[in-house]
Amino acid sequence: MGDDFDERNVRIVVADGVITHIEEIDRVPDQWIVPGFFNAHTHLGDTVAMDVDAAGSIGDLVAPPDGLKHRILRASSPRLCVEAMAASIRTMAQTGTWGFADFREGGIPGVEYLQQANTDCSLDAVIFGRDGGESVGAGLGVSSSRHYGEELTKIIERARADGKQIAFHAGEKDSRDVDAALAFDPDMLVHCTHVTPAQIRRIADAGIPVVICPRSNWRLGVTSSNQNPPVHAMLEAGVELWLGTDNVMFVQPDMAAEMAFCHYVYHIDAPTILKMATGGAQIVDRNYSLIKDHDARFTRYNMARSNAGFSKNILNTIITRLNSISMEGSLLNCYLK
Ligand SMILES: [Zn+2]
Repeated sequence: MGDDFDERNVRIVVADGVITHIEEIDRVPDQWIVPGFFNAHTHLGDTVAMDVDAAGSIGDLVAPPDGLKHRILRASSPRLCVEAMAASIRTMAQTGTWGFADFREGGIPGVEYLQQANTDCSLDAVIFGRDGGESVGAGLGVSSSRHYGEELTKIIERARADGKQIAFHAGEKDSRDVDAALAFDPDMLVHCTHVTPAQIRRIADAGIPVVICPRSNWRLGVTSSNQNPPVHAMLEAGVELWLGTDNVMFVQPDMAAEMAFCHYVYHIDAPTILKMATGGAQIVDRNYSLIKDHDARFTRYNMARSNAGFSKNILNTIITRLNSISMEGSLLNCYLK
C-alpha cells in the first residue's frame, strides 16, 4: 500500500476509475493487488524490427539516421508500424503496465502513428518526438547530444518555448555526452550507464530523474558489469531512478522481466525496484501507488493460478516472478476486450 509498498489485507473500492475506499479486512481471497507499472523508456516503433538477425556496434544497429533500425523503419508501411506498435502496447497492458514514455522517430507522422496505435488501450503515454515530432508530442527526445551540432540549442529553445518536456539519451556507451545534456537542464535522462561521480552529483543536485534500461544495456553490450549503470552510487546520491525497457527490437516491453533482471544483476531491494517500476508515472502527473482518492491504476493477480501463492515474501515474489499466467484483471480497456 501507499508509496512504501507495505503489504496489507485490504478491500479496495473503485468508482469512476478512482480509488474511493481502502478498508482493512481480516480475510482476503488469494489475490494480490499490485500498482500498475510505468515503462519510462520505450522505442515502440522498432517493434517492426523485432529480433532481426543483426550484429554490430550500437551505432550500426540503432544510431540515427542510418542504423539498421532506421532503415527497417523507413521500409515499413505506416499501417504495419501502427499495427506493430499497437501489439506492443497490448503486450505491455497484459503484463501490468499502465503507462509509458516513448522516444518516437519519424517526425510528426511518427508521433501521430503512435497516438493512433494507443487509441484502443489508451495507456498513459508521453511521446518524446524528434525531427519536428516534438511539436505534436509531449516532449522532445534527443537521441544523444553527440548526434547534433549547434542547431541543438535552437531545437531545444523552440521546444521549451512551446512548453515541451526535454529528455536525452546520455551516457549510454560512455560518459562523454552527459555534460552536454546536463547543460540543457533536461527533464529526464535515459541510460547513464556510464556517468562520473561528478556527473552523478550534478544530476542529483538538479533533481533530474534517470531512466535505466538494464536488459537493453546488456543486450547492446554497453555494459558487462553490475557497476554500470552505477545504480547504487546514483541511489545513494539521491538520484530518482526509473526503469525502462528501451528498444522493442531487442527487449520485450515487459516490466516484470525488467524488474527481475534488475534485482538479480544489480541486487536492488524489492521496495526500491517497485518504486523504480512505478515512479515514472510522475511525468504524466500521476502516482500509481495504492492511495485513496488516486486514480485506480493497479492490476489484480490470482495467486492460486500459479505457484506464487506459496510465497513467504510477497514483495520479492512480485519483483521476480510476476507474469500474466496469474493476471486476473485490470481496469484497462484493452485487457477487458
Ligand atoms: Zn532509447
